[in-house]
Amino acid sequence: MITPTTDPRIIQVEGTAMAVNSYVVDGPDGLVIVDGQLTVSDARAVRQVTDQIGRPIAGLVVTHPHPDHYAGAATILDGVSAPIIATQAVATVIERDDAEKNDIVAPMMGDEWPTTRRFPDEIISHGEPLRLGGLTFEVTDLGAAESHADTMFTLDGDVVFSGDVASNDAHAYLLDGHHVDWLDTLARLERELPSTATLYGGHGTPTDTSILGRQAAYVRAFVDVVAEFRDASEQERHDAVVERMQPMVGDDRLLFLMELSIEPVLATLSRSEVRDGRRR
Ligand SMILES: [Zn+2]
Repeated sequence: MITPTTDPRIIQVEGTAMAVNSYVVDGPDGLVIVDGQLTVSDARAVRQVTDQIGRPIAGLVVTHPHPDHYAGAATILDGVSAPIIATQAVATVIERDDAEKNDIVAPMMGDEWPTTRRFPDEIISHGEPLRLGGLTFEVTDLGAAESHADTMFTLDGDVVFSGDVASNDAHAYLLDGHHVDWLDTLARLERELPSTATLYGGHGTPTDTSILGRQAAYVRAFVDVVAEFRDASEQERHDAVVERMQPMVGDDRLLFLMELSIEPVLATLSRSEVRDGRRR
């Protein structure tokens, strides 16, 4: 689905096979694409948008190393010589985990899984301005939060491409197990982002900074209910978590990501509690 945003330079392209956003930013010297989609058809939809605009693609930036944000990048950039840009941390995790993601996602997606995948080939650093398409992005390496390595790209101080750090009315993926750091990051962004900021997130419609508090409440609720049902059967725990979490979000399309996270997060809770000597 292609949606204009309140910023005339930015088009939101939400995937149909997987509800994940790419943004096409129309800069004075070319188009900047934020995030690369999961599937072949959704990646082609992004390319259709850039072809229709008819201006050169300056580059594609990747906010974090999950396949729904990079796997389709090669398809989007097919035949185009433009860099895929990310921090070293994001590039390293993509290269490290791609084979494993391939084993997991390829059987789920069939022909929709891009067999040709390109990894980031231009590295940018935290605090270094990224000049692309005649635009200057501020690069903020957030460390581990929703993923093992999250990045924010900011234009003009308050146009924030925030990746999956906060998703507006979409269920979250918590499987990477960094919920403690994630909550710290959300609290920090609540303090530091200007109240005028618009967050162009990886899932859901762009929104204001109030999403940060809602995302924190979601993460806390998830961890609490998983911990509360730690001694229940896997099925009982699953049902209790879904019952608690489903009403927090209106859109169920990504509910499966939250469901996939239950057992892995339980494992991290048990581990950290053993380490802290708090468990029984
Ligand atoms: Zn995502």
